[in-house]
Amino acid sequence: MNTNESSGASHFIRNIIREDLEAGKNDGRVITRFPPEPNGYLHIGHAKSICLNFGLAREFGGRCHLRFDDTNPAKEEVEYIESIQEDVRWLGFDWGEHLYHASDYFDELYDYAVQLIGMGKAYVDSLTAEEIREYRGTLTQPGRESPYRNRSVDENLDLFERMRRGEFEDGEHVLRAKIDMASPNMNMRDPTIYRIRRMPHHRTGDKWVIYPLYDFTHCLSDAIEGITHSVCTLEFEDHRPLYDWVLDVLQTPCHPQQIEFARLNLTHTVMSKRKLLRLVQEGVVSGWDDPRMPTISGLRRRGYTPESIRNFCDRIGVAKRNSVVEFALLEYCLRQDLNRRAPRYMGVLKPLKVVIVNYPEGLEENLEAINNPEDISMGTRMVPFSREIYIERDDFMENPPKKFYRLSPGKEVRLRYAYFITCVDLIKDEKTGEVVELHCTYDPATRGGDSPDGRKVKATLHWVSAKKALNAEVRLYDHLFTQSDPEEEGAGGDFLARLNPRSLEVLHDCKLEPGLADASKESFYQFERLGYFCPDIKDFTLEHPVFNRSVTLRDTWAKLQKAGKAD
Ligand code: ATP
Ligand code: MG
Repeated sequence: MNTNESSGASHFIRNIIREDLEAGKNDGRVITRFPPEPNGYLHIGHAKSICLNFGLAREFGGRCHLRFDDTNPAKEEVEYIESIQEDVRWLGFDWGEHLYHASDYFDELYDYAVQLIGMGKAYVDSLTAEEIREYRGTLTQPGRESPYRNRSVDENLDLFERMRRGEFEDGEHVLRAKIDMASPNMNMRDPTIYRIRRMPHHRTGDKWVIYPLYDFTHCLSDAIEGITHSVCTLEFEDHRPLYDWVLDVLQTPCHPQQIEFARLNLTHTVMSKRKLLRLVQEGVVSGWDDPRMPTISGLRRRGYTPESIRNFCDRIGVAKRNSVVEFALLEYCLRQDLNRRAPRYMGVLKPLKVVIVNYPEGLEENLEAINNPEDISMGTRMVPFSREIYIERDDFMENPPKKFYRLSPGKEVRLRYAYFITCVDLIKDEKTGEVVELHCTYDPATRGGDSPDGRKVKATLHWVSAKKALNAEVRLYDHLFTQSDPEEEGAGGDFLARLNPRSLEVLHDCKLEPGLADASKESFYQFERLGYFCPDIKDFTLEHPVFNRSVTLRDTWAKLQKAGKAD
């Protein structure tokens, strides 16, 4: 993977499309599609496919359809359908009027199936599912022909029509394409193209009791919509001969080109919707949009921006070979985006009270702070300062080791944008011995945090005025799985046994700069020294502010690169 790849770097699919355009293929049209099955929320892997399909269409002045692959009537899909549309839009893409459903084509698909039967290229099979599996053979052994394979066209037409009318039970018959039971490609061994499912469909109601299967539906839906380039993931490479067979035999007016690319895999997470659904159903996470989920809605709630995800998809590139991408690269992309855009604030997550004993009681000053040193045009703000403040508990040690430069008895440090302070006393809880309050003096000559006499301090701490602090709940996150590959085989137990018990830490009574009280949803902030944070889309209220940490400031990606673990 080439992480230096900048936007617009070429890849093999872009090259294919360019060549097609130069050769005048498809009359210069580029029509792609993104075809999710509405059986779960979209994840970061889908984002790669969305960026690719919508991105290519945009780049070449074409269009990209959003098509729900809703051939399975068994699923209640409304929630998924809505979330998928919302996520694609949020990522910054638009299908315009081109929203389709595979179920829109059930009539046409049925007609195509009848055509196939008429051509002697499909037959009704009455073996059981079990028998069909047995007859199919294995990778090393050819399959055997079903005894029903040579039914006459008329008998097949009659049976298929009766299947449609609901005369049979589920599993009594199926319709199969008649191709080659000895093909080395298992997909070509008379694949099933229709099955009976006596079940209403959420869009077509009771109209159908037979439903087409994926391999038959997908290529024909592509052809019906006039798709030019049907981009899919590598596991469909072995299905391509079937894709082409169906369209060739039926001589559809349009024959899209299927092109496969490697799916995205990420470390420290699972990606298949089935596994993500288990996390939701078993209550491991709070829902599909839990900020620890690799779903688009989870990442959004965590504080990821569409720009950072698009940039990530751009960087990982498009290849033919499967690989695993470090989660740290995704975090790096977010940090890069927010570093430019996020205003800085101060927030104390684990507060320790400091009383500045020589600061006048009742005095309150407003000190000027820079909103973003990366972008001076973002201006400054005033931060209230008073006699009592909070600092981070970790920034004080009573008996510090040698290299601890932050606050300790007798030591002087800088309070960011405020003053130098020196610790002169500490107060302990009588029972536990825990330090509960510090007494410090300040030097009025250091206002703004500048030393008038060139005196140096080794540490600068963030702080919040006690009187004006905003009390908030802050949620810190870590990977859902400690192990890089939670699906690794042979380690014992399934992926759920490898959960990170510390993936969520909830902190109450955090003290934040008062300016954060009117944080708006889908905004993001850097809390100095602590990372990037955003109000929780679901739980944030003015009475009870809740913030999520999106990512820390530590660039683990750079570290991995240095260690030669990522290239
Ligand atoms: P999953 O295996 O996670 O359940 P899926 O492939 O069944 O995913 P679909 O809804 O069928 O999910 O996928 C819609 C589109 O997204 C397909 O074109 C598929 O190839 C693509 N896609 C799914 N997962 C990934 C991934 N990890 N990387 C890139 N593209 C993906
Ligand atoms: Mg699928």
